[in-house]
Amino acid sequence: MTRRCDVLVVGAGPAGLVAARDLTVAAPSLDVLVLERDRSIGSPVRCGEGVGSQGIVEVIDPTDAPWISRRITRVIFLSPDGTEVRVAEGDVGYILDRSRFEPVLAEQAGRNGAEFVIGCEVTGVERTAYGWRVLTRGTGGEGTIDARLIIAADGVESMVGRWAGLDTRVRSRDMESCAQYVVGGISFDPDAIYLHFGDEIAPGGYAWVFPKGTDVANVGLGIVALRAREGRSARSYLDRYCDAYFPTGVKTGYTVGGVIVSPTLPQIVADGLMLCGDAAHMINPLSGGGIVNAMKSGRLAAEVAATALRYGDASASRLRPYHGAWMRLLGDDHVRFFRIKEALSRFDDPFFDSLARTVNGIPEHRRTLRRIFASALVRNPALLPVVAKYFA
Ligand SMILES: Cc1cc2nc3c(=O)[nH]c(=O)nc-3n(C[C@H](O)[C@H](O)[C@H](O)COP(=O)(O)OP(=O)(O)OC[C@H]3O[C@@H](n4cnc5c(N)ncnc54)[C@H](O)[C@@H]3O)c2cc1C
Repeated sequence: MTRRCDVLVVGAGPAGLVAARDLTVAAPSLDVLVLERDRSIGSPVRCGEGVGSQGIVEVIDPTDAPWISRRITRVIFLSPDGTEVRVAEGDVGYILDRSRFEPVLAEQAGRNGAEFVIGCEVTGVERTAYGWRVLTRGTGGEGTIDARLIIAADGVESMVGRWAGLDTRVRSRDMESCAQYVVGGISFDPDAIYLHFGDEIAPGGYAWVFPKGTDVANVGLGIVALRAREGRSARSYLDRYCDAYFPTGVKTGYTVGGVIVSPTLPQIVADGLMLCGDAAHMINPLSGGGIVNAMKSGRLAAEVAATALRYGDASASRLRPYHGAWMRLLGDDHVRFFRIKEALSRFDDPFFDSLARTVNGIPEHRRTLRRIFASALVRNPALLPVVAKYFA
């Protein structure tokens, strides 16, 4: 394949799909091409599929959508010793079916004029007078695409930014290794998500149970490999977790993947290039959630790209407002969340067990985040200097 386009979107995940969809709306005359390495958009699913309701409605209407597996109205934290803390009640979020969700985003983009090539991988990029020459490999063999602008939405293993000269390295302590089973035939509250913390359960991360139905759930965990005992893998922690909590569950699916839990990269644009979603390290470092962030970054990238190309200028200085807009929207919060995460990593399991009991002393309907922190400070003054420092 040899061809030319205005904008090449690399990766048909939430970031790339929203970027392509919104760009074709903002600038219908642009020739937008999306390349996806996998043979199917949305599959295989490498994700817990949990999203907050406020975030998703900004990008797509979830009312009666067939791509929702479950509506969630409760969050249950479990401390290391198993103490349950219920912290939210109401319109909390959804568990998606990403194998249906992403094709819907792709259809929206396609209806607006974006073109898709599936089963085609980008293998390198070279700067040219036109913009970028992109090297590809797919079912039809090798090829090249000339693009004025690349939106690199190629996920956690992103290479496009690095090939283009950006520093996209991740410190190993900021990378969580995740493993997840789809487990059927188990009992839990199907309206709740469960987040279970503890050094024996998931060192540096947490285990999750995200309902896909009334007796089937995504059961997974993320660990910081450097903190794992005797070099144990995420899968070995997960097997132990499932044996302990869902011994009779039937495992029908398995996935692994990395989650980058650091703030956004310091540089996410270059001449003719924008990074979006996981490729730009836009995951919430505290929760590890990145779906909604990816979509929001795709939307911002589309806005800025449309304006830049209208002026016929895809230089880094023209694209830089994208970085500023992202930092104002979520990036600055991520810096704060990262500091809180670092602070919390200094406390041990007994601290979290005592915090859980303290929080359970607050009536359930009054358990806001602010009150939880206030009680934590009163009962555990050791936290005060840490929180004060890291919230500043
Ligand atoms: C086990 C696990 C559980 C998770 N659970 C949650 C959760 O519950 N909630 C949540 O919000 N987030 C979760 N995340 C994170 C979430 O999956 C990501 O943040 C989100 O998918 C990021 O979207 P993206 O579009 O940036 O990247 P991706 O969804 O990774 O999409 C990138 C796309 O680019 C394609 N690609 C990569 N390289 C190339 C190339 N060279 N050429 C062409 N195509 C390429 C890939 O095939 C992929 O389709 C989880 C992650 C893991 C690993």
